[in-house]
Amino acid sequence: MTAEAKKEADKAKKQKPREIKFKCQRCQKEVLLKEMVRVTRFRPVLIVCQNCAEEMR
Ligand SMILES: [Zn+2]
Repeated sequence: MTAEAKKEADKAKKQKPREIKFKCQRCQKEVLLKEMVRVTRFRPVLIVCQNCAEEMR
């Protein structure tokens, strides 16, 4: 592997992985995983965005 090719490979490795998104089960909006809220008082458990979690309170 040439030095140049190695540099390119390293760069690719460091690239941020695509952010995982979930679809809100209530409004169908795509939301980042860390912004999802699990509403456990429903069965089955609902995974919704923060907005919907607020509205369902
Ligand atoms: Zn929602």
